[in-house]
Amino acid sequence: MVEGKPKSREELKQTLKRIDGKGYKFYRSLKGCYAWPKYLLYVDHVQSDPFAPPSRLRVRVPQKVAGFPKDTYHNKSREIALRDFLTRCFHDACKKFCGGKRGTGNSGLITIEKPGQEILERNSVIVNESFVEARFTAGLPAHGRRIDGKTAETMFSKEIPRIVEQSLIFQNLDGEKLYEHVEVAEDADYLRSRLEEMGLIAFVADGSILPRASGVDPRPMDRRLAVPFRSPESLRVKVELPNRGLVTGMGIPKGVTLIVGGGYHGKSTLLKALELGVYNHIPGDGRELVVTNPSAVKVRAEDGRRIEQVNLTPFISNLPRGQTTEAFSTENASGSTSQAANIIEALEMGAKVLLIDEDTSATNLMFRDRRMQELVPKDREPITTFIDKVRQLYLEKDVSTVIVVGSSGEYFDVADCVICMVEYVPYDLTREARKVAEKYPSERRQEGGESFGEVVSRIPLPQSFRFRRPGRKLKASVKGVHLARLGDHVLNLWALEQLVDIGQTRAIVDALVYAGKYADGKRSLREIVEQVLRDIEEKGLDVLSPKISGGYAAFRKFELAAAINRLPTLKVRLERKG
Ligand code: ADP
Ligand code: MG
Repeated sequence: MVEGKPKSREELKQTLKRIDGKGYKFYRSLKGCYAWPKYLLYVDHVQSDPFAPPSRLRVRVPQKVAGFPKDTYHNKSREIALRDFLTRCFHDACKKFCGGKRGTGNSGLITIEKPGQEILERNSVIVNESFVEARFTAGLPAHGRRIDGKTAETMFSKEIPRIVEQSLIFQNLDGEKLYEHVEVAEDADYLRSRLEEMGLIAFVADGSILPRASGVDPRPMDRRLAVPFRSPESLRVKVELPNRGLVTGMGIPKGVTLIVGGGYHGKSTLLKALELGVYNHIPGDGRELVVTNPSAVKVRAEDGRRIEQVNLTPFISNLPRGQTTEAFSTENASGSTSQAANIIEALEMGAKVLLIDEDTSATNLMFRDRRMQELVPKDREPITTFIDKVRQLYLEKDVSTVIVVGSSGEYFDVADCVICMVEYVPYDLTREARKVAEKYPSERRQEGGESFGEVVSRIPLPQSFRFRRPGRKLKASVKGVHLARLGDHVLNLWALEQLVDIGQTRAIVDALVYAGKYADGKRSLREIVEQVLRDIEEKGLDVLSPKISGGYAAFRKFELAAAINRLPTLKVRLERKG
C-alpha cells in the first residue's frame, strides 16, 4: 500500500520528463499515489525490466464521481456481479483506448484480467459506498532498456483517463446491460439457495443452451444449431425468481439419478452443465439458470495422482500381500484407486452431491457383472464397486449422485430417477427402467456390505506447507488454469474439472501458502480449508497476499482441498477415533 499525501499529476509529468531515455530502473521513482481530477492513481509495483511481469496500478474513483446507485451492489450477489461486470468493461475499454504494445517486451500494454463465462468474485475491481477501484497492469514502455517517457506520459494522461471514464463512471455505462448482469446473478444465487428446500440437487431452466461452441471454447454453441433444453413434464418445477419472475425447468431430485441415452445424444453435455452450475454465468451464456448444489463435486479417474493416507476401505480393501487400505498412500495411483480417493476426499470435505461420467471413470470401480462375480469371487477382488455403495451414500450420508451411464443397465436397480437423453432432449424413463429391471432381474450379488464405511478425517502435518527451501524466497507461478509451480514442486490440477478461471488457480496457489498458518498438526484438513475460506469471506481475497493485486478469483473449499491433496509435500496423520 502506498500511503501519504498524493502527488500531483504535474509531478508525474515532470518525473517522466526527467527519467526519459534513462535506464529502466529509474521507473522505480514512479511508485506512489497521484491525484487526478476524477480519481487517485496508485502505482503499487514497478516492474524491474520491460520483459518482467507488468507493473501493477490502481485507480480509485470516489462514488461521488463514479455514481453507482446502491441497488447495483446492495447485496453480495449484486456486488460480486457488479465487480465482475466492471472488470469486463475495463477490459473492453483497455482494448479500445490503449495504443497496444509499443517498444520492448510488454511496453505500452494496459490490461486487466479477462473474465470468462462465469461471474466470479474477483479482486480486480472493488466497490463500496465510498469508491470504485480497478486494479490493472501496465507495461511501462521502453526502447531497449531505455525509458520511453513520452509514451508513458500518453498512457498516464490520455489512455488511462479515457479507460476510467468509459468503464468506471456509471452514467457512461450501458445501464441496461449492467442491471441485467447483476439481476441474472442474483436470480441464479436465489435459485441455488432454494434447491435444498425443494428437495433438489440441481435445476436446469427450460430454454437453457447447454452445448458449448467447442471443446476448447466455453461460449455457447450457435443458437441456430443448439437444441434448447426442455424439461420432461414429470420433472418440471416452477420457481418464482426475484427478477425474472416465474421460470420453469427440470428439477433433479436428491437421491441417485442416472443420465442414460445413446452415444452422442448429449449426456456428458448435461453433466458438464451441472458441474459448472455451482457458478453463476453471464447473460447470454445459455446456462444462466442452470444451478447445482454448491457442494457438488465432479469425481473422475485420475491415473498417476498422488494419494496421501486416504482411507479407501469403502471401495478398496485386502490388496494382495496383505497391503492395507485404511491409510493408503501412493505416488502413482491407478484409475480405480485414484477415483476412489477422489470420492473419499470429496466426502471428507463435506460434498453432498457427486457427479460422475462413465467417460472419465474407471470401469472396474463402477460395477462388476454377474459373470465376473462368478469367475473372480469377492474374496479375491479388492474393489467394491460404486454400484454397491451409491445407495448407502445416499441413505446413510445424505450424499446424492448423478451418474452418466450409457453402457450398463445394472444401475437401474439403484436409481431413484432415470433421465434419458434422446437427440439432446431429456425424457423421464424412471418407470420404464424399473419395468426393465423387473423383466430382466439382475443376477448380480450385492457386494457393498452392511454400511458405507467410515470417512476418516486427516490432519496435515505442518511441514506439508513448507514449500520454501531454507534461505530462499518462495517462487510460485501459475502456468495455466490447471498447472502451477510452487517452489521446486509442480502442482498438477488437470483433473479438477470445476476449476475454470486462472484467477482461481492464482488464488489457490497463494491460499496453499496462507493455509500453512493454520496447519498446526491439530486441525484437520477440512478445518484448515474452512478457516481459509472464512478469512476470505470476512476480509476479501486480498487476505491471501501482502501484495495488492487484481489477479484473484474466488474458489470453493473443494478445489483448495483438492490442491492440498495433490501437494507433493502433503503429510498427514489420521484423526484418532472416539
Ligand atoms: P454423449 O455424452 O451422450 O455421448 P455429448 O454430450 O458428448 O454426448 O454430446 C455430443 C455432441 O452433441 C457434442 O459435440 C455436443 O456439443 C453436441 N450437443 C450436446 N447437446 C446439444 C444440444 N442441446 N444441441 C446441439 N448439440 C448438442
Ligand atoms: Mg459422453
